[in-house]
Amino acid sequence: MPNPDRDELVLLPLGGAGEIGMNFNAYGYGPPDDKKWIVVDCGVLFGRETSTPGVDLIMPDIRFLAERRENVLAIVLTHAHEDHIGAVAHLWPMLRCPVYATPFTATLIEGKLEEAGLLERVRVKRVALGGKLALGPFAIEYVSITHSIPEPNALAIRTGLGTVVHTGDWKLDPDPLLGEVTNANALAKLGDEGVLALVCDSTNALVSGESGSEASVRDSLTALIGTLKGRVAVTAFASNVARLDTVAKAARKHGREIALVGRAMQKMVQAARDNGYLKDFPRTLDEVDAAQLPPSRVLYLCTGSQGEPRAALSRIAAGDHPHVSLGPGDAVIFSSRIIPGNELGIYELHNKLAALGVEILSADDHFVHVSGHPAREELAQMYRWTRPQIAVPVHGELRHMSEHARLARSLQVPQAVVISNGQMLRLAPGRAEIIDETPSGRVHLDGRVLVEEGAGFARARRALGMAGMIAVTLVLDGKGRAAADPTILIEGIPEPVHAAVRTAVDEALSRHNPKRTDDDDLKESVRRAARRAAADAWGKKPVTRVEVVRL
Ligand SMILES: [Zn+2]
Ligand SMILES: [Zn+2]
Repeated sequence: MPNPDRDELVLLPLGGAGEIGMNFNAYGYGPPDDKKWIVVDCGVLFGRETSTPGVDLIMPDIRFLAERRENVLAIVLTHAHEDHIGAVAHLWPMLRCPVYATPFTATLIEGKLEEAGLLERVRVKRVALGGKLALGPFAIEYVSITHSIPEPNALAIRTGLGTVVHTGDWKLDPDPLLGEVTNANALAKLGDEGVLALVCDSTNALVSGESGSEASVRDSLTALIGTLKGRVAVTAFASNVARLDTVAKAARKHGREIALVGRAMQKMVQAARDNGYLKDFPRTLDEVDAAQLPPSRVLYLCTGSQGEPRAALSRIAAGDHPHVSLGPGDAVIFSSRIIPGNELGIYELHNKLAALGVEILSADDHFVHVSGHPAREELAQMYRWTRPQIAVPVHGELRHMSEHARLARSLQVPQAVVISNGQMLRLAPGRAEIIDETPSGRVHLDGRVLVEEGAGFARARRALGMAGMIAVTLVLDGKGRAAADPTILIEGIPEPVHAAVRTAVDEALSRHNPKRTDDDDLKESVRRAARRAAADAWGKKPVTRVEVVRL
């Protein structure tokens, strides 16, 4: 039963408020101790080889909601980017609620659930474009918007205490080439009705002007491909289906056959076709047939724009792709931006391609990409349409979110609040205010196992990676005296350091007096001696472990 005296409406971001990735926003409505919750988006962040070795995916810690999962009504998805849906198959078992998405997003989610063996258990409910949902105290309306993937949506979330407009990822593209244009009428109508809070994409809050249209990229990319004579490979985000279509049409215009290289490309084109997009996408060749064509008749559309080592383009550049090779006279077009953090990998890929004699064309010197996120003029337009009482920037690092908040205040939004993951923001009643700090953080998908970031496995592996490892086994008799030479296992440490370590272990053992010290003291003194010896001889401190075996 609604209880207007006690009910409150809160926003709790558990991911995405502080990073571009791992989006996870929970909205709660009801009395303070018994709210109903919906989750908007459930995404991942990608691990990095340098900071989190061996961790492919990073997800939000959602224990706060998992403990209340009977009150979690649904996961509602805005669009199919990995930073919005990539964690569903991993975190759903903690929530076990229905999942709502528009058809294209639902298709991709179902593919992931199938891989995870969960398709039978999870109900993915398809919402029509512009469709409505009633979930307990929340009435949700999907509002079509433009971005860089089919079927992006903003959500109007109506409650007894006011309406929240949650933008999802968006830009204002007057000619997105594929799918709907932004439903400006619906957004303006929401503004007329009264919007309590706008929870909005901050990715490009530092970028002035407008993001530009997919249609303008089509013209420029088509002209550029027309100037090339040899083999052409274009790499782009597979999820940017309009871009794939542009490349395919440009290929056809210039007499080239197209081949999709990389599993993600094929999967995405298939998902788009299954949902009625790409109706006139040309027939594609397989890689083997494409390799038979003269260089001027072929175009490869490849995965790997971010330099991902296992993706198609990296394998082509390394010369170990089974069917595709590039060389002098050929060109690669990077029709994408560099995601911050990927610079090194991408430039390494450029260097490998350059070594093959391949020409590299990128957004640095050609108009081959536009962003899918709103620059400041577009943000301003969104504020003019919706006229919210409260601005809550999300989907950004702190620097993006604080600048976004400044922009909102300059546009006369009465209140703009920057919050971080785990902070519960009461949107109503009263002024917006942080009323609680919930447990939050990150969880790593480490191989096949979910582990808390704080458990430190990735950190331990990084330490091993930096300075190797020394493992010492000491064999003692019943009286605690050395009964054999110690066994010393050394991994990842240069040979000249080994002798110093061995000497230090022997000396520490010879100083050992079993009458005065116990095994733990001995282990610690040997450990320190070995580590110090390595540090003195080498300048680095290896991970050092000592075990005692008693005869
Ligand atoms: Zn997105
Ligand atoms: Zn996103």
